[in-house]
Amino acid sequence: STPVATFCALLRAARTGLLIKGGDVLESLASIKVAAFDKTGTITRGEFSVEEFQSVGECVQLQQLLYWVSSIESRSSHPMASGLVDYAQSNSVKPKSDNVTEFKIYPGEGIYGEIDGAGIYIGNKRILSRASCETVPDMKDMKGVTIGYVACNKELIGVFTLSDACRTGSAEAIKELRSLGIKSVMLTGDSTAAATYAQNQLGNILAEVHSELLPEDKVRIVDELKAKDGPTLMVGDGMNDAPALAKADVGVSMGVSGSAVAMETSHITLMSNDICRIPKAVWLARRTHRTII
Ligand code: ADP
Ligand code: MG
Repeated sequence: STPVATFCALLRAARTGLLIKGGDVLESLASIKVAAFDKTGTITRGEFSVEEFQSVGECVQLQQLLYWVSSIESRSSHPMASGLVDYAQSNSVKPKSDNVTEFKIYPGEGIYGEIDGAGIYIGNKRILSRASCETVPDMKDMKGVTIGYVACNKELIGVFTLSDACRTGSAEAIKELRSLGIKSVMLTGDSTAAATYAQNQLGNILAEVHSELLPEDKVRIVDELKAKDGPTLMVGDGMNDAPALAKADVGVSMGVSGSAVAMETSHITLMSNDICRIPKAVWLARRTHRTII
């Protein structure tokens, strides 16, 4: 191999905001056949805004509920958290993270926190079983929105919807990968309805969409893709993506909004959050690889 060609390629990539951790990563990148994308914060912007927020039953007043939820969410780094915190603030509620005495993350489900002596679960339908909620309502999945639930004392006390939008470069990145002979798929912990909506927004260009996944499901699917289609790249931002990023032949993390653990386990960090850099990097890697051989 020629160290100079590799060095120049890494330097060139770094100048465009792509941190590649070593020449061997560049070599793996040249042979990628499949790209698996996380949805929230990767294909989409991960900038959620609350569409609706309601308290359920007579237990808690809306302002009180907003205070609890936003205080607990202010301890979370999930993209949904800042959307909920912003919503509370715009409704004159001041979140107090210091009043949260216990905090726990359930990847792929949501979070748990204790405030004012109450134990509160916030997340998707899965969190309701964890909260031992008796009745799980069958809320109709509406286009595009992610539905969130709040539970306390085995009771549903709140429900809300959040929306997010695709990044402008996502469809273009996937198309460019396709022209390089690379198939793209989506792996998300979000609902099937939200995943399908994102796929439609992209113009149905993803070869496969897998939804409602736990972190270990993402690892399993990456493993299956490797066996079925060949060398696999995985792009993600969250702590729920870290195990799958490690499992992939090339793991790519989002540098601006991504979690620290995703950046640590990945082989490449996108400093600009621009996923269009990925096909360009593959092209660069293939060209460099040819120079080496
Ligand atoms: P993705 O794979 O799309 O990035 P995650 O695995 O991070 O999604 O999250 C899966 C689901 O878990 C989210 O769609 C959301 O419903 C729920 N969830 C996770 N973290 C939180 C949180 N802090 N607050 C509310 N809901 C959450
Ligand atoms: Mg994510």
